[in-house]
Amino acid sequence: MSQAPEHKRPFPRSAVASMPPPKPGKVTPQGSAGLIRLSHNESCYGPSPKAVAAYRSVADILHRYPDGSQYELRRSLAEVHKLDIGGIICGNGSEELLGLLMRGYLGEADELLLTENHFIMCSISGRAQGANITQAPTDDYRINVAVLLERISAGTRMVIIANPNVPAGTCLTGEEIEELHNGLPADVLLVIDGAYMEYAAPALAADCIDLIDGSENVVMTRTFSKIYGLAGLRIGWAYCPTHVVEVLQRIRSPFNANAAAFAAACAAVRDVEYTRSIREKNANSLRRISVALRASGIHVIPSMTNFYLIGFAGREQKNAAAAADYLRARNILPGPLIRSGKQETLRISVGNDTENDAVITALTEYMKQPELG
Ligand SMILES: *Cc1c(COP(=O)(O)O)cnc(C)c1O
Repeated sequence: MSQAPEHKRPFPRSAVASMPPPKPGKVTPQGSAGLIRLSHNESCYGPSPKAVAAYRSVADILHRYPDGSQYELRRSLAEVHKLDIGGIICGNGSEELLGLLMRGYLGEADELLLTENHFIMCSISGRAQGANITQAPTDDYRINVAVLLERISAGTRMVIIANPNVPAGTCLTGEEIEELHNGLPADVLLVIDGAYMEYAAPALAADCIDLIDGSENVVMTRTFSKIYGLAGLRIGWAYCPTHVVEVLQRIRSPFNANAAAFAAACAAVRDVEYTRSIREKNANSLRRISVALRASGIHVIPSMTNFYLIGFAGREQKNAAAAADYLRARNILPGPLIRSGKQETLRISVGNDTENDAVITALTEYMKQPELG
């Protein structure tokens, strides 16, 4: 609750006051020498060389504001993904677009339905709006549409799912998404966070686009932070029904995305061959990692993305927290521990071959450690 006025200092809205205080500045190590950073699901291959060249070309025009109409990137996205350009809006990472959707559609005490272990910005932005957040449990880290639909109430205004989902990289099929959509009241906005969609079969994105084109209450957010390797530039986009784009256009800053990001993203999305090669390399690496880790007795949840969850169910003396410590002691930075029901798992990003070998070696060694009684 907000502080009483007699405090004689500014106080925030009650929704913001009730949010957890920020954690004291923990610095996440960037790519310091020798450190293998597999914590943020970044692309270990980096962006297309064409995107880097386009980024550099902007150095001569840094005194200019970026194009507020976002035209070139919207046109590139529309051409490559065969979309209606009027349904596209770009932002400072897809997290900005998720935040704008909430500012546009969620008010005090509205219900926001998420799934457990959702992308953290969804609950941060939702809480800042004063929305009540419900988290639907998942089945072995996979979204269950029926369970999600059971959580819909009269107050539900928005449902956000990631597909492929975090933290395990599991995926709902086009039919399951349709089933979810069919179960929603027409005035509930269904937001599909497609941050990892490029890693999945192209049919997944196509189904999602068809659903958006054929309805009034579905939105998809996408990012250049993952397969395109441009996380540092902060650029994402959304594909929406026109009436939703009009809402977001009212509240976004005219220069929410920067000129260097626009240039690099245009080149990246047009370099379809580079993206295809990254998708293939990632799938091969994931296959190789899964085979090797399973051979040493580790549970690897099948992932459609550039990260994977490992678990140690049935291995009494082994656990995700100790595995994470073991990796960190070998200069490998894994992602966070993830809890679901009684399970605790560890998320790890796919790296390059050398990095993946280091993970495989370390975890195989960890599994061979004598089990302390
Ligand atoms: C990484 C990620 C995003 C991307 O956020 P950006 O702001 O575009 O960098 C969105 N959703 C999920 C689930 C993610 O893991």
